[in-house]
Amino acid sequence: MYETQYKRPTSLSEAAGFVAGGDGDAKYLAGGMTLIPTMKQRLAAPTMLVDLRHVEGMKGIEVNGRSITIKGGTTHGEIAAHEGIAAVCPGFHYLASVIGDPAVRTLGTIGGSVANFDPAADYPTALLALGATIHTDKRQVPADEFFLGLFETALEEGEIVTGVSFEAPEACGYEKFRNPASRYAMCGVFVARDGGTAKVGVTGAGSNGAFRWSDGEAALSSNFSADALKDVSIGEGDMISDLHGSSAYRANLVRVVTQRAVRKALSH
Ligand SMILES: Cc1cc2nc3c(=O)[nH]c(=O)nc-3n(C[C@H](O)[C@H](O)[C@H](O)COP(=O)(O)OP(=O)(O)OC[C@H]3O[C@@H](n4cnc5c(N)ncnc54)[C@H](O)[C@@H]3O)c2cc1C
Repeated sequence: MYETQYKRPTSLSEAAGFVAGGDGDAKYLAGGMTLIPTMKQRLAAPTMLVDLRHVEGMKGIEVNGRSITIKGGTTHGEIAAHEGIAAVCPGFHYLASVIGDPAVRTLGTIGGSVANFDPAADYPTALLALGATIHTDKRQVPADEFFLGLFETALEEGEIVTGVSFEAPEACGYEKFRNPASRYAMCGVFVARDGGTAKVGVTGAGSNGAFRWSDGEAALSSNFSADALKDVSIGEGDMISDLHGSSAYRANLVRVVTQRAVRKALSH
């Protein structure tokens, strides 16, 4: 056993103050859906847990026309149950509904997921393809500049993700090829089309975390159809290779799953 302190701040500044005043090993706690299992496995042993669940202004969803703002402490389940998001951005709504299982969706938060940037996390695909903005207690960061690499984001020490915002595109769709045991994506793809521009965010396949697939975007920007991708491939060099699938298998998945996501976007 090891000792850890528990703090329950009610404001962002109080929360940030606990972390800044700690010994450098304090951690924010959101739903605990990643942090607690990590602590149980002794992969992390924070000396202080700073619970963000009672911090004012960390929860809620606003939909104004096509503009969507989601506060950092909002759970996957709350997003999956939101009719306003379903109406203007069905792909994002669906994405939240296929994260983990009901327990994970009840406690896990979008802020925690974005801050953690697991290589198979679902939200980063959408935030990249939607050109979203990540809000923190200090600044606003475009998604393209936020997700830097495996478990690495632009967050500085003690910075808190307070929310995300984006404009719903004309069409979007999410497709997730799940690992049946973990329910994480072997490959998950979010496609968004606005005017003549298409964007594609991919998770679960790349060895450096979620990324935008530029060749797929070019093909879909000139012809937004599944057929446009039939001769477009992605190199296997940057793909994950593990006991669940080889890099060649994952490279093929990226194209196939993107085609399915496009069909979904066209059917909404
Ligand atoms: C069985 C299982 C299946 C899962 N399946 C999926 C899946 O299919 N797809 C998927 O995307 N995810 C999946 N997850 C992860 C899940 O989405 C978590 O919700 C997500 O990782 C974040 O968890 P949390 O919000 O509870 O954050 P916590 O676990 O509390 O925190 C995670 C990390 O983020 C930091 N943090 C938390 N909130 C903030 C914040 N607002 N600002 C700054 N730092 C913060 C914490 O200090 C910690 O380092 C799964 C988890 C489990 C246990």
